[in-house]
Amino acid sequence: MGRLDGKVIVLSAGAQGIGRSVALACAKEGAKVIATDINIEKLRELEVEGIEVHRLDVTNNADVEAFAAKIDKIDILFNCAGYVFDGTLLDTDEKSWDFSFDLNVKSMYRMCRQFIPKMIEQGTGGNIINMSSVASSIKAAPNRCVYGATKAAVIGFSKAVAVDYVKNNIRVNCICPGTVDTPSLQDRLNARPDPKKAYDEFVARQKMGRFATADEIAHLVVYLSSDESSYITGQEFIIDGGWSL
Ligand code: NAD
Repeated sequence: MGRLDGKVIVLSAGAQGIGRSVALACAKEGAKVIATDINIEKLRELEVEGIEVHRLDVTNNADVEAFAAKIDKIDILFNCAGYVFDGTLLDTDEKSWDFSFDLNVKSMYRMCRQFIPKMIEQGTGGNIINMSSVASSIKAAPNRCVYGATKAAVIGFSKAVAVDYVKNNIRVNCICPGTVDTPSLQDRLNARPDPKKAYDEFVARQKMGRFATADEIAHLVVYLSSDESSYITGQEFIIDGGWSL
């Protein structure tokens, strides 16, 4: 028996990294997984038993509406899509500021506006998990000005939605990873003038001396998706190997 038997989970950013690991972990626990991403070619690699894939750009309202119209039942919504803009305040032009908020925060507003009415209507409640970061209101990280602001907003947003829909049996939590070894992390390291030095510096700030794996984050998402966490709502879950200590 799986921990998520009979549940339907819809998630964004499923093509790689944490979203991909969550899709596989939830399918393994018996959920029907509806994985989405803007990168449909990469996402198709995930088309295995228990996982259905759809192209979805979470920054496009029409796209989100059309996608939601195809979904009959949803138990869990995992809003994973997000992006790191690397820079200080003075590095961050207005376009980068707006894009970061659009992808990291407003995408969650769009998805919740479509799926919360379905959760209420189906009468069985729902469960929303939003992707934040420990680089947010929890901890400052260098060169993460707009990123930290967006991820702090995710925490506030998650609490606000949790309190408004608790009577509808909808839980809302968010997760705050430290540094996770994913393709985009590797891209960010490779973009530095000296990738090896950048890697060593990133690892040096990890108290456990290593990055998290995407699978370690997926275990937390499975727990929050399952009924094992049924009395938990409105919380931020730090999973950072002690980085914020
Ligand atoms: P990643 O950055 O490697 O991949 C992100 C995925 O998002 C890609 O598949 C990409 O195609 C998809 N995507 C980008 N724009 C999209 C859009 N408009 N619509 C739909 N999909 C889109 O993945 P990751 O590193 O696992 O990060 C996933 C989430 O976890 C992000 O929100 C990130 O901020 C957060 N996070 C990551 C880390 C880390 O160290 N990797 C730490 C804390 C939080």
